[in-house]
Amino acid sequence: MIVAGVDVGSTATKSILLNENGEIIARGLTHTGANVVKAAERVFNQALKMADVEEWDIAYTVGTGYGRFRVPFGDTQITEISCHAKGAHYLHPGTRTILDIGGQDTKAIKVGPKGEVIDFCMNDKCAAGTGKFLEAAAKVMDISLDDLGVISLKSKKPLRITNVCTVFVESEIISHLAWGKKPEDILRGVHNSISGRSSSLLRRVGLEPELTFTGGVSKNIGMVAALKEKLKLKINATEDSQYTGAIGAALFALERASIKSVTTN
Ligand code: ADP
Repeated sequence: MIVAGVDVGSTATKSILLNENGEIIARGLTHTGANVVKAAERVFNQALKMADVEEWDIAYTVGTGYGRFRVPFGDTQITEISCHAKGAHYLHPGTRTILDIGGQDTKAIKVGPKGEVIDFCMNDKCAAGTGKFLEAAAKVMDISLDDLGVISLKSKKPLRITNVCTVFVESEIISHLAWGKKPEDILRGVHNSISGRSSSLLRRVGLEPELTFTGGVSKNIGMVAALKEKLKLKINATEDSQYTGAIGAALFALERASIKSVTTN
């Protein structure tokens, strides 16, 4: 039996296929763009191709993320909070707090020993402290997203970035560059600004180890380092962290498919 989870985020859409043992057998990732339905179909087809299976081989599909109601082939939808909690518990069973930094929002989620949601809070009102903030810095400094974190790690004298607004931070960066400040010091300042905001959000739910970092921004090693320094604790982040919501959705799909097969047999 194969099941699927599709996480349609505001910026990136992810898919995961699991086999009946709950092992990941395929992944899909695409930019969400303007057509949410097409993005969901695109990642689903990527995963089908990777696993070398057809749509009718999928026993159950769960959609999650802000665009979850637009997954046309989905059997049901579950919130990204529940899916992140389940996915983080699967990747790191000791998880008690999750920090999810995505393209346009940041969430702090407190979870119980079985990966159940206890509490959460989120910042989705403005782009400050999200991937969009880092993207703005990357754009104005003409640096790729992949290099942003690596360069920030070279900093010896991090600058203090005072603007929290994505629009104003661009002018602040331009002004630092004009004064001859080093790119690594500016970038470390940008990362520190996000880790400060994340720390406040985490404290609102009550930060308890282990902390698992999810969402696309967890791929940024500079962000992992800035958070470690600010929070003074070990942070779980792996290659699959961006897929956490999709993994959780696929795990829910596995549970639902197992119930379906028991009731139909
Ligand atoms: P969504 O909020 O749509 O679910 P994700 O959690 O998938 O989005 O995160 C998308 C964000 O992750 C992008 O906006 C980008 O800032 C960041 N990101 C993606 N890949 C990388 C990378 N290799 N390095 C740094 N940041 C990345």
